[in-house]
Amino acid sequence: MTGALVVAIDGPAGSGKSTVARAVAARLGLSVLDTGSMYRAVTALALRAGLDPHDADKVSILARDADLVVGDRVTSLDVDLTAELRSDGVNEAVSVVAAHPGVRAALVERQRAWVTTHGGGVVEGRDIGSVVFPHAAVKVFLTASDAERARRRADDEHPDSVARRDRLDEGRVASPLRPATDAHVLDTTGRAVDDVVDEILAWL
Ligand code: C5P
Repeated sequence: MTGALVVAIDGPAGSGKSTVARAVAARLGLSVLDTGSMYRAVTALALRAGLDPHDADKVSILARDADLVVGDRVTSLDVDLTAELRSDGVNEAVSVVAAHPGVRAALVERQRAWVTTHGGGVVEGRDIGSVVFPHAAVKVFLTASDAERARRRADDEHPDSVARRDRLDEGRVASPLRPATDAHVLDTTGRAVDDVVDEILAWL
């Protein structure tokens, strides 16, 4: 993957990551990887299998061994999980699943393999600049006001659920949500997507 262009975009729920990542990728002609959908897919598979999300060993083995294809849609063994990824059950359990070091190790490996296969890309998540791609060409950590983040997530998730995920993501021991020391921290509150994208591209 030497020389492949990687743009790392991190931030909490509702900070604008997915929209901005897609727009940056389109402008650069790169593919985009939503790593949150990978943690959500493992969670959906764990719930389908009747596993306890707190069972680190079983859930980590699942994350390592599961067939997982992540793109516009997310599938496992040709079962389309896309609709399930935003369910209340997954929203509730995903930050518990994502806190297991074994789950993170398995998914980080898949994320690095994805970038190798795609010859670079825009990768969005919580730990992309800090852990997954510490040598990314540019690292962006998006934020937004609590009110704006709640408004953006309103159709998908109750504000209490978002706040709980943020708390768990920031408080976990393995790869907690926080900006890499060399990340550009960018507040997207009230800003147009194109404007944010222009600013990011100027850092490249
Ligand atoms: O980005 P999204 O909100 O879909 O992510 C869902 C959850 O997946 C997050 O709340 C977090 O627990 C986990 N996650 C993570 N590391 C990433 C991406 C997502 O821990 N790189």
